[in-house]
Amino acid sequence: MSDPENEDRHPLPRLPDPTLSQLLVSGVAIAVAVILLGAVAARIAQQVQLLQWWVPLVFIGGIAVADFASGVVHWGADTWGRANLPVIGPRLLVPFRVHHLNPDDFLRRRFLDTNGDVAAVTIPALVVLMVIPLDSAWAHVVAVGGFGCCALGGMTNQIHQWAHMPSPPAVARALQKAGVVLRPSEHAGHHRGPYDTQYCITTGWCNRPLEALRFFQRLENTVSRLLGAVPRADERSLAAGAHRRPRPVAQDG
Ligand SMILES: [Zn+2]
Ligand SMILES: [Zn+2]
Repeated sequence: MSDPENEDRHPLPRLPDPTLSQLLVSGVAIAVAVILLGAVAARIAQQVQLLQWWVPLVFIGGIAVADFASGVVHWGADTWGRANLPVIGPRLLVPFRVHHLNPDDFLRRRFLDTNGDVAAVTIPALVVLMVIPLDSAWAHVVAVGGFGCCALGGMTNQIHQWAHMPSPPAVARALQKAGVVLRPSEHAGHHRGPYDTQYCITTGWCNRPLEALRFFQRLENTVSRLLGAVPRADERSLAAGAHRRPRPVAQDG
């Protein structure tokens, strides 16, 4: 249960509100990413024969790659990141730390603030998909898979936010129910702490197979053995004086 006395002594961490220039950059990044996505889709429609058996499989495979990538980035940030690293510390790692300690703070973030950074990451990949010559079967596979990866991968933060909303928009709820995007119940396991499982936050498809393989635990052990690094050291030091809010994510429904 919530402990107001403890919250007074150790207020829950919150991300600072974005500045106007940050919102502007986010808006431009989202607009460019959406235009490029549309252009890549038009290019594929013109140059790839879409009525082939492999097209839906590769498209779905591209989405699975985006989910896997979301897990790897999230695992890297949670396990080895330090909030005081230059540039990526404040932009990437602090939001992850704050999110564990105060998941509800994510719900305050508006559309531009939520989606700008991930949209910016997809832009170089979409530019590549715009310029590669589509003159071979392999190039067609890369284009279709890359499109699926960028389309869903670019929505990762939005999808993650939906998984935390008590009442997400109807379309988001339908996509969650259909298993197309991350389900709240799937993500809840990550928030039970110590935040070392179920890292994938785009569709959540990769979580079960990766957990069955103990993929991230093995990777973590290997990195620890090779580099002598201590996993989650930064997280522990940040959490030491902070109160953690108990209600993590919304329920499916
Ligand atoms: Zn979360
Ligand atoms: Zn996490």
